[in-house]
Amino acid sequence: MSESLTNQQAMRYNRHIVLPKVDLDGQEALLNANICIIGIGGLGTAAATSLCASGVGSLTLIDHDTVEATNLPRQTLFCEKDVGTNKVEAAKARLTAINSDCDITVMAEPFSASDAAKLSPALKQAIENADVVLDCTDNTDSRDLINVLCFKLNTPLVSGAAIRFEGQLFVAIPGESRCYACLRTLFESPDLSCVEAGIFSPVVNIVGTYQAMLAMQVLMDFDNIPKNTLMTFDALSHEWRNWKLPKGVNCELCAC
Ligand SMILES: [Zn+2]
Repeated sequence: MSESLTNQQAMRYNRHIVLPKVDLDGQEALLNANICIIGIGGLGTAAATSLCASGVGSLTLIDHDTVEATNLPRQTLFCEKDVGTNKVEAAKARLTAINSDCDITVMAEPFSASDAAKLSPALKQAIENADVVLDCTDNTDSRDLINVLCFKLNTPLVSGAAIRFEGQLFVAIPGESRCYACLRTLFESPDLSCVEAGIFSPVVNIVGTYQAMLAMQVLMDFDNIPKNTLMTFDALSHEWRNWKLPKGVNCELCAC
């Protein structure tokens, strides 16, 4: 059964509710939503902060890493005292301090398997239970696996990536749009990590916050969600660009 906003919550989210496109219905859609964030690094911490503060009712955070000092320039949800501790636990503590109404489930396990069928039932369940999944991981194997599961379990996916001065975003809604594998058939990128290539700190925060915004817009059924579109951002030229996916890429997963 869906929950209604309390008077206190209606006051708290007033700046949202006065927006005609959000209104009480939109804020209640956030309150009743469960968003699963896979990867609590630069993208995941930025996304989780925005979603939690904005009034999303439930978050599921998945990551098996611990906080390192080299994370602190980008992953501003963490403090120096968190170094060496589990990322999902540190994130939960800080997010709960931001918004104690947000119900946060943490899973400190790696999101990996040789194929989707071999992934742990608990991780699969987390995707199935989510209203939207945010892919905030940093490697193509995890991205492919998350896409397969979201497609099979009919869960909308908002994918983000950032490296050097560049960011990208892609939304996949099963049954309504092309999947992430369609994109991968067109842009076969090398599996380069931020450790090797570097990352300009604010870029990852911009992309993670944009993922949160897209997820909220999907939940509130906004028009003009950028479907079948790769969005890219370049922090050197200060340009955002949208690239429409061409038809007929013969994707093996979604058969587009
Ligand atoms: Zn596809």
